[in-house]
Amino acid sequence: MGLLIVLSGPAGVGKGTVCTALRKRMPELVYSVSATTRQPRPGEIDGVNYFFKTKEQFLKLIEADEMLEYAEYVGNYYGTPRSFVEETLAAGKNVILEIEVQGAVKVKEKFPGAIMVFLLPPSFDELKARITGRGTESMDTINTRMNVAAQEMSLLSHYDYAVMNDEIERACDKIRSIIIAENCRRERL
Ligand code: 5GP
Repeated sequence: MGLLIVLSGPAGVGKGTVCTALRKRMPELVYSVSATTRQPRPGEIDGVNYFFKTKEQFLKLIEADEMLEYAEYVGNYYGTPRSFVEETLAAGKNVILEIEVQGAVKVKEKFPGAIMVFLLPPSFDELKARITGRGTESMDTINTRMNVAAQEMSLLSHYDYAVMNDEIERACDKIRSIIIAENCRRERL
């Protein structure tokens, strides 16, 4: 069995950026592409960034038990396709999920062996600057995302590791070290 690594943390903390940098450094990590009902942003490609679904399609996937976890987030559904993750882990490969905190907690319930990594913002002001700076969201969405971020911080206790995202390369170094250490722990068992 491969390792299941769950990279999570509040909205706007930079999970996507850190995950992309980490995958460049560790090409052997298999990234699980999520499904979502939100509209694609400019440049996003179906099947690469997300599997873009209608709400009806998404609800059918849930009904068919095809979602390992899912969450409703700022008015849209996001979820992890189950079979891909299970088959990849069974093939002995390490899989990384980059997901929000409610879904992450559900993954830990289903896979107690999942390695839970919580990405911390250097400060709340910094978080606000990042959410606003993305420039693709309306003021309402920004405010909602900030409130969600405050609640998300309270779930830290469910995690195995906290990594501060003060600098991308440093955060990547830490996560890579965690994965290496966890692999060594597996070798012992
Ligand atoms: P965005 O709309 O900015 O791409 O993503 C919004 C949030 O949804 C981010 O926090 C992202 O990590 C999270 N997310 C992406 N995919 C999934 C998923 O499969 N499951 C869950 N629970 N959250 C996800």
